Amino acid sequence: MTEKSKVYYGSVIAGQPERFANPSEKLDKILENLDLSTIEKRDKVAIKMHLGFNDGYQTIPVFFVRRIAKAIKEQGGFPFVTDNPTAVYNAAARGYTSETCGCPLIPIAGVKDGYTTQKEIGYKGVDDLDAAGVLLDADVLVNLSHTKGHGTCGYGGAFKNLALGGYSGPSRWRKIHGVEQFDTYFDKDKMTKEHILKLREACPLDAPNWNDQTETPSLAFYACDQCHGAEKKPCEEADSGLTGWTIKEENFYSFQELMAHATKTILDSFKEDKMFHINVMMDITPFCDCMGMGMPQVIPDVGIAGSRDIVAVEYASLDLIAGAGLIEGVVKQIPKSYMRINPDLETDLHPFQILHGPFKNPYKVAEYGESMGLGSRDYDLVEILSPEETAKMDSSGHTYEGGPSFF
Ligand code: SF4
Repeated sequence: MTEKSKVYYGSVIAGQPERFANPSEKLDKILENLDLSTIEKRDKVAIKMHLGFNDGYQTIPVFFVRRIAKAIKEQGGFPFVTDNPTAVYNAAARGYTSETCGCPLIPIAGVKDGYTTQKEIGYKGVDDLDAAGVLLDADVLVNLSHTKGHGTCGYGGAFKNLALGGYSGPSRWRKIHGVEQFDTYFDKDKMTKEHILKLREACPLDAPNWNDQTETPSLAFYACDQCHGAEKKPCEEADSGLTGWTIKEENFYSFQELMAHATKTILDSFKEDKMFHINVMMDITPFCDCMGMGMPQVIPDVGIAGSRDIVAVEYASLDLIAGAGLIEGVVKQIPKSYMRINPDLETDLHPFQILHGPFKNPYKVAEYGESMGLGSRDYDLVEILSPEETAKMDSSGHTYEGGPSFF
């Protein structure tokens, strides 16, 4: 029997309100278990993360980033934080600087987003993608992801951090997002501008779309919540079979399959023992960090999970998030003008599907990744400093700030 992939997990729940049970202590132990000793002296270590955008501050706290950088330096490696050029340039506005992170911040594809290497992909009309040169230059990858919802695929985590974040802007926006339109889901010859605007009118989310510049009709997959599985969908009814417009599950998955290809391409450029994947399941918002704004936290904080297996860490994180469920008190306050949430909060769907619709299956990208040999969904969850364990620990050493002791 093959060994299951280990996923080390530290919960935000502590057995006692003590520092030894703090998530940062758990992160340190997760790093110990991941065994960073495969980082060699002078290795250049990319900490790939999302540094937020504009007013979006719900990203990974710099407090954790700094600890990871420290652990890398203890191995003799040279860490640097990397993300898209704009996010890096404006990172200080959200608290990320060389001083706070404990290592430099370097734009992932150069200051003009042009330092890239073309990588062959060959999937649904996407022949190639421009992979970020700075990321490829690194010897070691720390794939540090903030888990959250995503309009197009329900969820963004370890795969999305590399699949979209590991490429130049045009590859990310035009090609990876563009693949959503590759499949035929209606008869384009029969579709006119007038007709799709009729469908748009019927849709409460304006998801059917006409592009005046390219003169093409399309469905904005990002916006469509599939009417949360309703049998009668206003867009389909408005079509009346004229163009065969149907909202089908398989049409939602090209984006996720291409993300898996794009992730594999990045991972293939690193040696097996030089990749670490860490998911931070805190401040989980309905949409992704690219939104550039504060959003309601819709899922309780869960904790931190780390693995050398990207598929395992993604499955484990999604399972833990499913276990945590939605914060009903928050979700029930969100008006339909913000997003339509499945009114049946008890339905047997993942929380991200309750938010974004049943066809935005958050596991799909990891499922594709597994089929490409990137890892296994069969994981062994090893809880670090569990509440039961920390409940029994000696708390007699607790200190308070009684004066300017600078301890
Ligand atoms: S399924 Fe619903 S949300 Fe999606 S395009 Fe049709 S009407 Fe709009």
